[in-house]
Amino acid sequence: MINRKGLGAVREIGIYVHVPFCVRKCLYCDFLSFPAGEEERERYVKALLKEIEAGAVRYGDCLVDSVFFGGGTPTVLSGGQLIRLMSGLKDGFAFRKDAEITLEANPGTVDERKLGDCIEAGFNRISIGAQSLQKEELAMIGRMHSAEDFFLAYRWARESGFRNVNVDVMAALPGQKILTYLDSLERLADLEPEHISAYSLIVEEGTPFYEWYGESGKREAGMAALPSEEEDRLMYERTGKILAQRGYGRYEISNYAKPGFECRHNIGYWKRRDYAGFGLGSSSMMGNIRWKNTSDMGEYLHLMEKTPQLEAVRKERHPLSVKEQMEEFMFLGLRLTQGVWKEEFHNVFGVKIEHIYGETIQKLCKQGLLTEGDQVKLTPYGRDVSNYVMAEFLF
Ligand code: SF4
Repeated sequence: MINRKGLGAVREIGIYVHVPFCVRKCLYCDFLSFPAGEEERERYVKALLKEIEAGAVRYGDCLVDSVFFGGGTPTVLSGGQLIRLMSGLKDGFAFRKDAEITLEANPGTVDERKLGDCIEAGFNRISIGAQSLQKEELAMIGRMHSAEDFFLAYRWARESGFRNVNVDVMAALPGQKILTYLDSLERLADLEPEHISAYSLIVEEGTPFYEWYGESGKREAGMAALPSEEEDRLMYERTGKILAQRGYGRYEISNYAKPGFECRHNIGYWKRRDYAGFGLGSSSMMGNIRWKNTSDMGEYLHLMEKTPQLEAVRKERHPLSVKEQMEEFMFLGLRLTQGVWKEEFHNVFGVKIEHIYGETIQKLCKQGLLTEGDQVKLTPYGRDVSNYVMAEFLF
């Protein structure tokens, strides 16, 4: 492997690695993920290593600030495969000493040994998908694990040495009550993870849930209903209050962290830092060009085996116009609690934010959706209708 470490690395980037395998598909999931046998998983790891090697030749002069293994369920891979992938990255890229290296994990796919391997590989942050601690809710959304599996995975993660742990919890699930949601949230917070992501269920097209709960859904008699919008909002408000009392700050619409444990990798997305994606269907943004790898496994393997063809695997390549960069700067930046710094907008685009978005900002401030000072930020009401607010920044 060509190692270009130390060749004057100046540009800090994030790296995303997609592992598209899951033990089985959750009923609400529209991510690129599917079950696969051992042979296919190994073939994929080999192809991924080739893509990483080729990517390192192309971007080896960058300094890696964060890595995120997502999916799918990266922990469907063996400890040895995860070690090999991390070695591939470390051989090819220069890393910041304190780089944040996250592994997404699902209960039921980890044990003490695998997590020990992950620590050895260099992962220093783990994100565990709990989603709920209620048996009925987990069954309703098709998760493969129980609450007990989650507690075990959490304990093993701590015992293996993870000092930075995120836990995912979901609101607005079928049959979920405010009380059952809060029970899950509080019991998860009792564990004192450094970070909690609390997302509301979105019914996505192409999922079984869309068939049942979508606009023209065919929910049969006896199937649990989704909580109302009002209940969803209450869950959201209570989440903020409960977690604030326990020392978590909300730094993004759905993300809460103990001070200093905000997810550097995701902040990179919201602040439009460059990132290189590797693997099936992964997205990248480098130098204001966005692209997405093919989602066709056969094609991906074919293009990566033998001599990797980086360009051929990249689909939907889109150089962003300045207007598109501004739009992204606004609708991604507004997700952050600190909002968008006016000075930063000026530094990036060489023009004052007021010249571009003055009228829009004033209108949204009058509607009580934004506040304006050195930063432009969403108000609590603006957060409730954030899709509307973000859309106002599109040209
Ligand atoms: S574990 Fe995650 S990626 Fe896999 S099917 Fe469930 S929600 Fe989707």
